[in-house]
Amino acid sequence: MSYFLKLNNVVKYYGEGESRMKVLNGINISLEKRKICAILGPSGSGKSTLLNVIGGLDSVDQGSIIIDEKTDITKLKRKEIAQYRRGYLGFIFQFYNLIPNLTVRENIQVCEYLASNPLSLDELIETIGMAEHQNKFPSQLSGGQQQRCAIARSLIKNPELLLCDEPTGALDSKSAKDILVLIENVNKKYGTTVLLVTHNVDIEHMAHMIIHMKDGSIVSSIENSNRKNAKDIEW
Ligand code: ADP
Ligand code: MG
Repeated sequence: MSYFLKLNNVVKYYGEGESRMKVLNGINISLEKRKICAILGPSGSGKSTLLNVIGGLDSVDQGSIIIDEKTDITKLKRKEIAQYRRGYLGFIFQFYNLIPNLTVRENIQVCEYLASNPLSLDELIETIGMAEHQNKFPSQLSGGQQQRCAIARSLIKNPELLLCDEPTGALDSKSAKDILVLIENVNKKYGTTVLLVTHNVDIEHMAHMIIHMKDGSIVSSIENSNRKNAKDIEW
């Protein structure tokens, strides 16, 4: 079996001396390409830390993180990590981090300029359902529309891996559903592998793989053979 993402015994501590705390306690994950993996677990269980180390935003103390069966990102130098982030990775968060004085289109365009192999801007704006809002500024948009724009900003470079840290955490349930449907559409249309941290347990129906974390450990990891399409789920 070939895996797009493989974590082997990843250990991460925060703090020094007395206050040193093990935040990731030997994490193992094997995820195939083009799959959606949901990560669930209580607050403080290490979900964000896990995404951050996979995204090269933070270092590990032990273990390996192998992308595409060849690159161990824990061994990369600073410059190579920047390359990995530029070439492979999209990252979205609970908050949208849009540039307030640029329109939707311009917000996405600044990311397009940085990409070596960008998607078509017009097609992407269409895919995220923002064609009619593309010339508006972030302050003129709802939370859900701002998150669509943030998703497009991370997708325009056509990343292989999309890391989503509670992307619906600040949204009402209708907008949250729309965002999850969008993420699934992106996964289908562009073949993007998705790691999605969420508190929305209904995600279990949509994900190909479901990981439950507690106190820095994976307590269960399940392949979901009965998955449904996001739009058919009663969110
Ligand atoms: P989750 O995303 O599941 O809520 P986090 O990964 O944010 O959990 O946090 C896991 C644990 O690590 C928590 O106890 C948190 O307080 C601690 N932690 C997170 N980031 C830092 C940091 N930069 N410095 C010290 N401790 C941290
Ligand atoms: Mg978190």
